[in-house]
Amino acid sequence: MAIATINPATGQTVKTYDEMSEADVERCLAAAASAHARYRLTSFDERAGWMRRAAGILDDERDQVAAMMTTEMGKTLSAARQEVAKCAAACRYYAEHAAAFLADEPADAGAVGARRAYVSYQPLGPVLAVMPWNFPLWQAMRFAAPALMAGNVGLLKHASNVPQTALFLQDLFARAGFPEGTFQTLLVSSARVERILRDERVVAATLTGSAPAGQSVAAIAGSEIKKVVLELGGSDPFIVLPSADLPAAARVAAVARCLNNGQSCIAAKRFIVHAAVYDEFEQLFVKEMSAKVVGDPMLEATDVGPLASEQQRVDVEKLVADAVARGAKVLCGGAAPDMPGFYYPPTVLADITPDMRVHREEVFGPVATLYRVAGLEEAIELGNATEFGLGANAWTNDEREQTRLIRDLAAGLVFINGNVTSYPQLPFGGVKSSGHGRELSVHGIREFCNIKSVWIGDPAPG
Ligand code: NAP
Repeated sequence: MAIATINPATGQTVKTYDEMSEADVERCLAAAASAHARYRLTSFDERAGWMRRAAGILDDERDQVAAMMTTEMGKTLSAARQEVAKCAAACRYYAEHAAAFLADEPADAGAVGARRAYVSYQPLGPVLAVMPWNFPLWQAMRFAAPALMAGNVGLLKHASNVPQTALFLQDLFARAGFPEGTFQTLLVSSARVERILRDERVVAATLTGSAPAGQSVAAIAGSEIKKVVLELGGSDPFIVLPSADLPAAARVAAVARCLNNGQSCIAAKRFIVHAAVYDEFEQLFVKEMSAKVVGDPMLEATDVGPLASEQQRVDVEKLVADAVARGAKVLCGGAAPDMPGFYYPPTVLADITPDMRVHREEVFGPVATLYRVAGLEEAIELGNATEFGLGANAWTNDEREQTRLIRDLAAGLVFINGNVTSYPQLPFGGVKSSGHGRELSVHGIREFCNIKSVWIGDPAPG
């Protein structure tokens, strides 16, 4: 894939970039290793000062950065602005909390026969981050802010369609004052990842993206015995039970499915509704989906911009065509508009059967599948009938049902009566094919740490 900015709202190529040469990559790897040798010795206070400055730059340049993201991958300008603000908040969160999250933890010295015993959290070194285009600033930042605060250095291989955002991130950390080599962007294709990951100076990797990309990077990391965190796809269930506030559930369902033009790993994708309220929910949900304004992502009135690339739209069209050919009913949307750009309308499909690809695969566009179930047990069973296990939404005011859903949904995040969202304060990650490891919160910052046990005995007598 060429490294280029192609505006998905028009289909026009805005700018293309040359890939870095092997010599360029070698210079970056050498710079990362030498930066880490010094950076690991910096204090939390110094790192926090730089991280707060990065947050300030994001605040000051919010509108330009947002417009850049919208031009590169089509998210609405208002969503892009929120993403920039969220990144600034994450920088400040880790600037404030990293020292406490990584403070030495006393252990029971007596139980291990020591004078003193404790756990120390120490940085690992240069970490390679392979990132996707859908939240081009946020995905990279939720790796970078904790990793840098922990004393690691970052090497970013961003998705090939967001090179401007990738270069902005390197520039951001440099302008914030982080020492040279602390955070570098590698403009390389995915075919170059293997060689970089096998380099002995790279000590660990994180990948956010599709399951096949995760499998490939995890296999390489495994063969090198290097730590890897994987944040992969999702096909989140959105379960609606009879006691739910149906209008609220339908409103949030449409927001969830259309968030980021339908291209979010934690978007609700499969809507599983109790038979007692199915008809009413279907009507409300289709109304909400049909009311979404599709159009130019730069306009404030737009709810749903284009998909990020022509390929994304082709993939979505094929999934819908397969479902329709196998008997799915299209309740709204279902066909791309005849206009320039990679637009696809909010779409609701009903009468889903297990032989349809939309039943098994992640749909990365604003297409919802609707299911009718007889009760809680069937809802949980269908909710878990996917290879993924990232997020899960459930709507019920019955506490017994809530307890069952929280216990039995196989997902890394369960949100009751609300939309699954990432927060710096809560760990984020999945089970099954959605990956392993966690980002954000105290758990995220410890992923790329050497959790070192320290045991100190009594001084030797005389
Ligand atoms: P993708 O094709 O897997 O690309 C993601 C990144 O991996 C890009 O930088 C890509 O580089 C690189 N890549 C692709 N194949 C690779 C390989 N074999 N070896 C090494 N690197 C490789 O995913 P996408 O289509 O851009 O993003 C959508 C997917 O990401 C969806 O499945 C979505 O659910 C998932 N996602 C998950 C999370 C989460 O937190 N769990 C968050 C956001 C998105 P190129 O661009 O150069 O190909």
